[in-house]
Amino acid sequence: QQQQKDQKFHAANATTVPLDRATMKQMRKEMLDFRQQLPIYSGRDAIIQSIQDSPTVIVMGETGSGKTTQIPQFILEAGMASYNAGAIAVTQPRRVAAVNLAKRVAEETFTTLGKRVGYTVRFDDTSSDETLIKYLTDGMLLREILSDELLLRYKVIVLDEAHERTLRTDMLFGMVKKIQKIRKEKRSNGEDIEELKIVVMSATLDAEKFSEFFDGAKILYVSGRLFPVDSYFTQEPQADYLDASLVTIFQIHVKNPKGDILMFLPGQDAIETLTTLVNEYASQLRPSQQRLLACPLFAALPPSQQQKVFDPAPVNTRKIILATNIAETSITIPGIKYVIDCGLAKLRGFNPKIGVESLLLHPISKSSAWQRTGRAGREAAGVCYRLYTEDAFRELDDDTVPEIRRCNLAAAVLSLKASGIDNVLEFDYMDRPSRASLIRALEELYALGAIDDKGHLSELGKKMSEFPLDPTFAKVIIQSGEYGCSLEVIAIVSLLSVDSIFFTPSDKREQATESRRKFIHPDGDHLTLLNVLKAYWEVKGDVGWCKEHFINIRNVKIALEIRDQLIRFCERIDINPAATCGTDTDQVLKCFLTGFFQNSALLQPDGSYKSVAGSQTVKIHPGSAMFGKRVEGIMYNELVFTTKHYVRSVSSIQSAWLPAAAPKYFNNMKN
Ligand code: ADP
Ligand code: MG
Repeated sequence: QQQQKDQKFHAANATTVPLDRATMKQMRKEMLDFRQQLPIYSGRDAIIQSIQDSPTVIVMGETGSGKTTQIPQFILEAGMASYNAGAIAVTQPRRVAAVNLAKRVAEETFTTLGKRVGYTVRFDDTSSDETLIKYLTDGMLLREILSDELLLRYKVIVLDEAHERTLRTDMLFGMVKKIQKIRKEKRSNGEDIEELKIVVMSATLDAEKFSEFFDGAKILYVSGRLFPVDSYFTQEPQADYLDASLVTIFQIHVKNPKGDILMFLPGQDAIETLTTLVNEYASQLRPSQQRLLACPLFAALPPSQQQKVFDPAPVNTRKIILATNIAETSITIPGIKYVIDCGLAKLRGFNPKIGVESLLLHPISKSSAWQRTGRAGREAAGVCYRLYTEDAFRELDDDTVPEIRRCNLAAAVLSLKASGIDNVLEFDYMDRPSRASLIRALEELYALGAIDDKGHLSELGKKMSEFPLDPTFAKVIIQSGEYGCSLEVIAIVSLLSVDSIFFTPSDKREQATESRRKFIHPDGDHLTLLNVLKAYWEVKGDVGWCKEHFINIRNVKIALEIRDQLIRFCERIDINPAATCGTDTDQVLKCFLTGFFQNSALLQPDGSYKSVAGSQTVKIHPGSAMFGKRVEGIMYNELVFTTKHYVRSVSSIQSAWLPAAAPKYFNNMKN
């Protein structure tokens, strides 16, 4: 079925039936009409003029006004970007957004995706030398700086969704500002270099802050078109937000007039659970009633499925889109009249004292709540149902704390170092991270061997920075060459890169666990994942087999694509991706430990595990193959804090392996 859909998609793009001139003309006219009715269109000339006149411009405008899709086209139409002068890069914090926006703009310009308009996201590059408008994740632009220090292939850098203040966008602020200055200096020294234009785009009212950072850059306000939205709160706090969501969805569906629903949920798990539930209940609606169709939207969803969100609902059907905060500002979905806001988001957090990173469920900020509400009033008056009380709303923070102030900075510091910025403490941050967290990141990189005792990037660190992975995972893959187990390690890292290759419906938990029991490896989750993959290969990915064993076939496929990419990366740096340790699987675990030594814990006399790094007690997650087991030591990839510190992706280790895995770290600990 998937293949069929893909084919349909290609067929639509390939225009197999040559269109006659009149039809083409009509289509172009309709598209132009669409573009011209967007709020941003009236500001077109002013925007072009400002970008032409000043090195940096800040554009502030309501979500859906046309910033992301139109401004790059304006710049191109005005002749500011070209093969000679350089292309336009538009950064996005999320890959789904980058892909969708590129597709949309290719459609609007009647060009084939990957030619004049393209995108680059991790593990997928659909751009070429011809590309003049390139949508890319902020992480990808950071990586391009490694090979193109002054970003000479670009004339204009558009930093989009600036209000989100993701770690990578924040790093780009400082870096492109510096690059702009260097290019200007070189140019005034007579070098044949184009000046760099910077456009910062934001959906919230924080434009002054950006302007200040970019030396008083001009701010342009695009007036949005927003209809009134009624907001409702719950009377009582909701103990179970999934339950409350389900009730609200069906109340709207049964009682309210036509219009699609957009529901904000914290993550893929919640979205998948609720999608199943909604579809189940929807199938029990009376035949005379309007149908209800659930469409999930989250970052890891394959493109063909994402498209469903934009397709109009079938006749006599209401669409309910279940999305992460991706739909808050980066993607505009037409036809939304109702918004349900559960009030929660998953946020990365980091405690520099104990070195624990977490992905926690957090109440959103007031500004997020308003953004979510606004999605209901794009085309007509709408309604927003907030699944929390008015008191709870008043207690929300005004804005979300920038990621740079709350996450592990090891990856950021490594990428700054690799881009030639040695003094990371003095870097030009828009919001300076705490000194403690920067020092912590330097210590971690030192322990990993990515920097030497003078803080300079090592050979290993340079290689690590080239991998599109967290420094710890990058190190594990690089080390796998020495441990002779690249085949196994690459496979496991790929499987760990996706949310979960298992699929566990809440009502069939036991059955799922039972059917997967045969894959369990006594040494834990890493080798268990490998067993699953081996079995999957043996049956050649048979759909029935996956179903029977509750394997999430889609995620396995995504993991295998990632694996292909990692194999290519390894070949590039002379690591044999086919090297295997055979039955000596301890090698695999020892190799993982070279990256995850800080995530290890040792068994205590009372039967608990105490972490080596922070001396706190950690509990093995019930979903782990190691649950309830007592072994000398454990290593884990993930620590989740709910009521206790739970660890996931856990394997058994021996304490004797630790010093060899990280000599610098464990020698320091002794002193
Ligand atoms: P902004 O960046 O200001 O939030 P966008 O440029 O992303 O706005 O979107 C402008 C308009 O383009 C949206 O309101 C929507 O109507 C339309 N649009 C964007 N992406 C798509 C898409 N994939 N399919 C259909 N329409 C789209
Ligand atoms: Mg946008």
